[in-house]
This record gives sequence, structure tokens and C-alpha cells, in this order.
Amino acid sequence: VKNGPGKVLLYYCYCEVDDPHAVCAWQEALCETLHLTGKVRVAAEGINGTVGGTNVATDLYINAMLSHPFFKMEKEDFKTSDGGAECFRHLKVGVFKEIVPMGVDPDVVSYQMAGVHLEPEEFHKEVETVLAKGDLCSDTILLDCRNFYESKIGQFTQCLAPNIRKFSYFPDYVDQNLELFRDKKVLMYCTGGIRCERGSAYLRSKDVCKEIYQLKGGIHKYLERFPEGFYRGKLFVFDERYTISSNDDIISDCRYCGCPWDQYELCSTRFCCQLVLSCPRCRQEGHTACCPTCQSKGQAQSETTSDTPHHKEECECTETRARIPQDIKQHD
Ligand SMILES: [Zn+2]
Ligand SMILES: [Zn+2]
Ligand SMILES: [Zn+2]
Repeated sequence: VKNGPGKVLLYYCYCEVDDPHAVCAWQEALCETLHLTGKVRVAAEGINGTVGGTNVATDLYINAMLSHPFFKMEKEDFKTSDGGAECFRHLKVGVFKEIVPMGVDPDVVSYQMAGVHLEPEEFHKEVETVLAKGDLCSDTILLDCRNFYESKIGQFTQCLAPNIRKFSYFPDYVDQNLELFRDKKVLMYCTGGIRCERGSAYLRSKDVCKEIYQLKGGIHKYLERFPEGFYRGKLFVFDERYTISSNDDIISDCRYCGCPWDQYELCSTRFCCQLVLSCPRCRQEGHTACCPTCQSKGQAQSETTSDTPHHKEECECTETRARIPQDIKQHD
């Protein structure tokens, strides 16, 4: 259970959980027994987890989940990638209002209102049709509902990728760009499919789209089927690996010199939470922070260790980012 090659699992299940705290306690005990690390969110609306451990441990975990009466899951619902317990610093299991934080009450916008699921093959065909037609925005929108730093290093060809910092801004993004979606057929996708569930439900609740579809199993499952398909670049993951890759395309650049680069690292300045794309040459020249301002702040910090600043979600370089970007074409 503890030693040997391993992997990281990613899964979710929307269902009615009568006693989230009991499920939470069960999960905590299960993961500890199996020496798994990662994050598990339990809510009355279901469960969402990503855990790392040995192959033996993750198989036992899947079996435990499949035999639990609440979760009507199949083995296919677990996305796997190379990794292990070392991919996470801790195990965090908790009870929340939502299994993915969209910031909208599940009683108001429920997963039960989600868009139609498309298998990777079906989604692939839809994208193929869109690309063949050329002018994307005419009747179909391929919508990436992940955060900007995720779509920056990998995305579907010709998608609309909102420049948002977190998923809880997605509803406001939809509200403020509603006309963009009017009478359109929307093809949504995200990492593993979970954000599309209630994200598409939210979009549907606005009643402006012609049709709304979502990629079942997300990019994860799509890449298993089409490693050289219409998704180009890396897949961002929320653990110490940052990315997993399926093709060799690099679609982003080094922040400092502009050469192709897509390996994220955390900003070198303590307490800064920004991810940086800085190529090896620029790193060698000392560009290890998210921006020059943060770099000099970091240098000043190391000289005066007396104050203990708190974790800052934002930096000077993120202030120019609109909280809710406007993607509606301005007609003048
Ligand atoms: Zn560079
Ligand atoms: Zn920074
Ligand atoms: Zn910065």
C-alpha cells in the first residue's frame, strides 16, 4: 500500500449525500489507511476528489468507492495519471456547501440542470465540424470554463477562454457577457468535467443558448482517446506536478523573454501565490518571480526578516487583470 509506483486519481460524483460529515469521516479514515494524499470535498450535492498513492492503494480506493451505496460510479469515472502520494503535501478532507466552488447555492442552480454530456468521440466530431466551418462565432461557441492560467498552457483550437482567475467568477462572466451566448450552440469543457456540470447548469438557467453540451470526463478523458486531437498544449492539474502532457505542443511563452515555455513554477517571493512561466535561461539570470516588482519585493524581504506578511492571492502584476473580463465585441 505504501511503496511502489503510483498514480493520481481524479473523480467526482453528483448525488444526494444525506450525511456529509459521516462520509467525510469515512473518507478521512480510508485515505489515511491507504496512505493517500490529496483533496476530497464532500457536500450534500456529492463528492469530488483528487488523491495520490501507490497503484495498489489507488485500486483499493476505487473499489471502496464503487462498493459504497451512495455513489453510483463506474471505474470509468476515475481519471488516472502517473504520480503518487508525493504529488500533494497533505491530505485534506472536508465538508463544503459545493463540491466545486462556483459560489452559487446548489439549491438555486443544481447539477440536475446540467447540459447534455458528449462522449470524447462525439465532442471531437463537434469540434471537427466547427473547425471545418471556419468562422467559429457564427453559431457555435467552444467554451473553456477553466481559469486563465490553465487555458494559457493548453486549450482546444479556437476556443473561447475567459480570462478569469477562479471558477467562482464564472457566473459573473456569463452574466456580463450574456449576449455572446444568445442563440448559440455551446460546447463546454474543463479538466475532468466537474466544473461543466454546474457551469453549464448556470448558463442554462439564463435561457439564452440554443443548445448546451459538455465534454464528459473533461480534457482528461478526451486526451486518453485523442492524444493528438484538437486539444493542444499541456493539461494543468491542481497538484505539485502542475501539468500533464499528451502532445509536444507548447502554446505559451516565457514571461520574460517570450520564448516558447509552459512549465509553471511558484513565484520565488515568499507569500506570493502567482505561478510563473520563466524559461531556464531567464531563471538563471535571476527572473524567478511573477513580475519585476515582486522580484525586488522578494529581495527586500530576505534582507529584513522581521515582518511576517500573510499569503497574498494577488500581486501588483495581477491588478491590471479585470475581475470579470468583457468578451462581447464592442460595435462602434
Ligand atoms: Zn525566458
Ligand atoms: Zn510574485
Ligand atoms: Zn507579480
